[in-house]
Amino acid sequence: MDRKQVVNFGAGPAKLPQSVLVQAQKELLNYNGTGISVLEMSHRSSDFAKIINTTADALRELLHVPDNYKILFFQGGGSGQFSAVPLNLIGLKEDRCADYLVTGAWSAKAAKEAEKYGKVNVVHPKLDSYNKIPERSTWSLNPSASYVYYCCNETVHGVEFNFIPDTKGVVLVSDMSSNFLSRPVDVSKFGLIFAGAQKNVGCAGVTVVIVREDLLGRASKECPVIMDYQVQAENNSLYNTPPCFSIYIMGLVLEWIRNQGGADAMDQLNKQKADMINDIIDQSNGFYSCPVDVACRSRMNIPFRIGKKEGDENLEKSFLDGASKLGMISLKGHRSVGGIRVSLYNAVTVEDAKALVTYMEQFLRDHKK
Ligand code: PMP
Repeated sequence: MDRKQVVNFGAGPAKLPQSVLVQAQKELLNYNGTGISVLEMSHRSSDFAKIINTTADALRELLHVPDNYKILFFQGGGSGQFSAVPLNLIGLKEDRCADYLVTGAWSAKAAKEAEKYGKVNVVHPKLDSYNKIPERSTWSLNPSASYVYYCCNETVHGVEFNFIPDTKGVVLVSDMSSNFLSRPVDVSKFGLIFAGAQKNVGCAGVTVVIVREDLLGRASKECPVIMDYQVQAENNSLYNTPPCFSIYIMGLVLEWIRNQGGADAMDQLNKQKADMINDIIDQSNGFYSCPVDVACRSRMNIPFRIGKKEGDENLEKSFLDGASKLGMISLKGHRSVGGIRVSLYNAVTVEDAKALVTYMEQFLRDHKK
């Protein structure tokens, strides 16, 4: 199939803006007159120093990151941070314990990993299914926890926080891998934010960590040196070879976001796209059904079933086959939940979402009894 005919609704790695790919292609063999590719460039060169510094500066500008926060680049993905966060922060207080909100598959994995390094307190009653954020009144936060952790957008289950939890002064940590820079965020409310790039801000290979300076230098002694926030901060993320090309691509995507109007513009577009999909789901009289509580439906990942609440697998298969014939790919729900999942990251256009809505309307007319 021709690239132009494909609409990619993948959950990540995901669609990149066309102009970014074109620029990367143009510069692939000869970056900025250096005669070499970024793929071949020393991470200690002045050209790469410019790339990494410009990328960090763009993030600082787009998210209004205050001066007392470091912006770091890591390998190891979001999953690497499931370990790095407790390794660096669980010893902030003597009790070595941390509070976790577990609202989906990713925060569940993070909590499980953290248990290796300290005591983990899940602050709310266990959820039977991941389709809502437990009422604030049911949370029991521990004032002597080293930090409170939550996943801002659960990519598999489609649950997104529309508010920042109030932790009564305890350090707040958030995994924003799947909604990073999809909207503005008040960084000053957080001790640490991390996000893999491969959904909203680039390709796989690099994970951004934004961390408040007073939290540096507190790593446990068993923390691998490459995961130590203080070490990476002192070395401008160049303690060892960073994922150079992924950082370069992130720089291009951030420039694209800036040209679109920044985080506010992403916010508006992402809301518009999600509203379009949610509207057709909600107006289908149960033919399409999204299991997630309306108050916390993700604007990035919308899971839904077709035919009946628990899903009619034959109908879902025929929906996916029909979509694929029209070039709409990667709509299959995560294997642990089944059904359909639409991911609407920054690079997915309103036109892409409209094409899907048109197909969903047609499929509804053709199959509704
Ligand atoms: N957190 C979230 C919210 C994710 O969606 C993912 C991956 N999809 C991860 C963490 C793990 O990221 P990685 O595969 O890069 O380790």
